[in-house]
Amino acid sequence: MGQIIINNLNVFGYHGVYEQEKSNGQNFIVNIVADTSFEKAQKTDDLSNTIDYGTMCIFIKKFFEDKAYDLLEKAANELALEIIYTFTEINTLRLEILKPDAPINADFDSVGVRIKKTWTKVAIGMGSNMGDKHAYLDEAMEKLLEYPQIRNLVVSDYIETRPYGNVEQDDFLNGAATFETILSAEEVLELLNKIESEAGRTREVHWGPRTLDLDILLYGDAVIDTRDLTVPHIDMCNRSFVLAPLNLIAPGMVHPVRRRTIRDLYDQLAKETNAEENIKDV
Ligand code: ATP
Ligand code: CA
Ligand code: CA
Repeated sequence: MGQIIINNLNVFGYHGVYEQEKSNGQNFIVNIVADTSFEKAQKTDDLSNTIDYGTMCIFIKKFFEDKAYDLLEKAANELALEIIYTFTEINTLRLEILKPDAPINADFDSVGVRIKKTWTKVAIGMGSNMGDKHAYLDEAMEKLLEYPQIRNLVVSDYIETRPYGNVEQDDFLNGAATFETILSAEEVLELLNKIESEAGRTREVHWGPRTLDLDILLYGDAVIDTRDLTVPHIDMCNRSFVLAPLNLIAPGMVHPVRRRTIRDLYDQLAKETNAEENIKDV
């Protein structure tokens, strides 16, 4: 891992809320720290194998010439996304935009904003037990691919499983997927909910039949517990229909609370389940 740095890049632009900022423009200072791998560049000593900070400086200058937003928060977010989508080797981007001459009647060096975008590895679980189950899962994965905020999607084989809970219903088709995203966990949930409703998902019976169910299993090493979102998924370690497909594609991912790999958790669950079955057999 290494960092590409741009310090105090001076650009001219028209971002701002006040009329004079929009019409006269002003100077901005941009600072960047971009985490990336130097491995290829160090081996080959070739500019095409790294992020060219010269090109990035021109890119940023052009952004300021072409775009004008009222708020620096918005400008920073748009610029960060454009940089991330263009310089695809970046893993984490920290971006600062400062106004040294902001129209404020006070003594300061500069005012501004700082944001961070990072590609986070996410694991999701999916299931369907109504209609063309295979097609529902396939379509969900195709939709994920359409989002530039998502990359490196890996999808497991699908497995057929008996329903969980006590509701009388058809067998499930389950699978898991991993991807990297610059969306927050809340934004991932929102996106998964949107894809579920596009598949005609309704919520009538808890753990009841559904065209499509998409759950966040892991979001990097984040531990989240809010009204709408619990990550890691609260019951994933007890569900072989979750761990079995995830183990096929991401055995080395670590559960941040249990501090165990998916492989370990899956092996342990398989042992416990066998033990239970053995006890019943006696
Ligand atoms: P289970 O969560 O036990 O698998 P379910 O998937 O059938 O049950 P849903 O009706 O799909 O449950 O979801 C109920 C709510 O769970 C959602 O509205 C969502 O806000 C919340 N939720 C909490 N944590 C998660 C998560 N990690 N992934 C998806 N939804 C979650
Ligand atoms: Ca679920
Ligand atoms: Ca769900």
